This record gives sequence, structure tokens and C-alpha cells, in this order.
Amino acid sequence: MSYKAEYIWVDGQKPTAKLRSKGKVIADGEAPPIWAFDGSSTNQATGDNSDCVLNPVFVCPDPVRGGDHKLVMCEVLLTDMTPHPSNTRAACTASSEKYAAMDMWFGIEQEYTYFDGIKPLGWPDNGFPAPQGGYYCGVGADEVFGRPIVEEHLDACIYAGLAIAGINGEVMPGQWEFQIGAITTPAVADHLWVARWLLYRIGEKHHVSATLDPKPVRGDWNGAGAHTNFSTVQMRNDYDACVAAAEALGRNAPLHIANYGHRIEERLTGEHETASYTEFNYGVSDRGASVRIPWQVARDRKGYIEDRRPNANCDPYIVTRLILDTVCGAAIGE
Ligand code: ADP
Ligand code: MN
Ligand code: MN
Ligand code: MN
Repeated sequence: MSYKAEYIWVDGQKPTAKLRSKGKVIADGEAPPIWAFDGSSTNQATGDNSDCVLNPVFVCPDPVRGGDHKLVMCEVLLTDMTPHPSNTRAACTASSEKYAAMDMWFGIEQEYTYFDGIKPLGWPDNGFPAPQGGYYCGVGADEVFGRPIVEEHLDACIYAGLAIAGINGEVMPGQWEFQIGAITTPAVADHLWVARWLLYRIGEKHHVSATLDPKPVRGDWNGAGAHTNFSTVQMRNDYDACVAAAEALGRNAPLHIANYGHRIEERLTGEHETASYTEFNYGVSDRGASVRIPWQVARDRKGYIEDRRPNANCDPYIVTRLILDTVCGAAIGE
């Protein structure tokens, strides 16, 4: 029997690209082929020259349709088969190959917020819930909103074979997190984009929308980030390499901040477990730092570090490429 393949890609919307998908019926036994779409409807082409190419880069079982159906993560190419200007994966892959000898792993913590209409899920129609304090990793109907959807998303990611590592309720009610990794890039970013697509798709079933807005509620409420943990083989063996990586990020801070997600200045205020976007610092166990060295890493004198700056709405192809270029480039004296 034929199977259904849902082709997923990142569009050309600015300042923050979003996911698109469409379905293709494929004959039994055939792999998902190259396909095309109307780029004039996704900010990726003009109407008079509208065809853009979908090149499959990661195929996995489709947990929504089940059976033999597939999800097909794609990169967008021009019709001459070169990367489309909106394609951030190609440069990520190039950096990953350039620094392959350093075997960089990434683990990304994706925070997000469920919305029920115009308010975060579980919030009262008028006013605000009780202030932050009890919600992080909380339990109980007065503190936790959306758990059945979260569990369904986790099951879906496992079914799809994504490298999902865990989930937790976040500091703001209605806000949650899942983690992808630790694996190499661009795989970590491919998996994260598919996990995001599943987040939206499963939300549809429950009439709840998930958002990656970095500051979904103004005021004294946590923003949503995408803390990016990483390690080279040197860092996994040597603490000095962990410190050197943090120092290298500090020397290149403005470039990273400018590419870590739109409206980062609204989230990196220096309050709410962040350092200001205008500053750079790192420290052991410090959740108010730009970069945190986990305490176990300081104790073991080896491991990984956490770049806490990326926004929830960041492009993980860009974030992982920049970390590769900055950290691996510095390590080999570029
Ligand atoms: P936090 O305490 O910041 O909330 P989490 O447990 O949510 O941390 O996320 C930590 C992430 O770091 C996980 O995705 C995990 O896979 C990743 N990680 C662990 N070890 C490494 C490593 N050596 N290199 C890269 N990432 C790692
Ligand atoms: Mn976390
Ligand atoms: Mn978190
Ligand atoms: Mn974290």
C-alpha cells in the first residue's frame, strides 16, 4: 500500500522563520523523492519564478498518522540545486564537516508556552495567576496546565525516533520544556525542527497553540529560551577546554546575540534567570550568567557548558553553526 509522507520545511518569514508542511502519497517501497512548492506563498520566491525545491534531509516515522507513514524534514534549494538564501542548514552542515575532528555534541533545551486563545493555558480570564515560585517541575491541577498534551508530544517524539532527552514544567504557568540531544549537528537541529512541528501539530488536536515567543507575557514572568549545551571531545576530557570555550564565546558575544533569535533584548534583561544581552559573563552553577558551567563539570574537571542566551524562537541551524565556528575556530587558533 502507498504511504503518506508529510514534507516539512522552514520558510522565509522574517524576522523569524516558521514551519510549513504538505503531504505526498508515495508508492510502497519508494523513498521520499525531491519535491517542490510555491515559494511565492512562503516568502521564498516571487510569483513569476515561484518554484522552490524540497530536498529530504531527515526521514522518520510519523507518530500522528502511524502505520508506515513518514515525516520528511527538508532543506530548501533553488531549482539549480544550490541552497536557497533562506536555507541556514547548508552552512551549518559545512561547519560541522569542517570541524568534524572535534566531534561537537549539542543538547538543546526548548522552552515553549501553550496558549488558549489570547492567554497562556490555565491562566484566569481576568488578571494573573499566583506569582512564579511553585510552578517549575510542579504537580497538581492548581499548578500544572497541559500535561496530557505534553505527554502526547513526548510519546510522539519517542515514536518518531527523535533524540528527545526529557521534559519539565517551567517557571511560568503554561510554560514547558523538552530537551533534544546530546547529538551532533545538523542532526540536533533537524530533530528539534521536527519536534517543534509535532508540538504545533499535536496542539491542533487539543485546540491549544504552542508558541516559541521569547517573552510571551510582559512583566515579572520568565521568558522562553533554548539553552544550548555543547561539548567538543576536548571539553569532555579537559576542564581547561571548557573554560576556553566560554572565553571564546565572550570574545564573539555581539555576533551571537544578533543571531540568537528576534526580540532577544526583551528576554535577556538581566532579570528572570538571564544575563543582560549587553554583557557577557560565565560562571559555575550561575543561572544569572550568559554561560553556565554545570557544577558536576567543575567537580569532574571535564564535560560541557551551557550557552543560556539563545531564545526559544532561535534557528538551531544558526545557533549550532555559530558555536561551532566560534569555539572550534578558537580551539585551532583561527
Ligand atoms: P538544565 O539543568 O539547564 O535545565 P537540562 O537537563 O534541561 O539542564 O538539559 C541539559 C542538556 O544538556 C540535555 O539536553 C543533555 O543531553 C545535554 N548534555 C549533557 N551532557 C552533554 C554533553 N557532554 N555535551 C552536550 N550536551 C550535553
Ligand atoms: Mn532544562
Ligand atoms: Mn528551562
Ligand atoms: Mn538550562
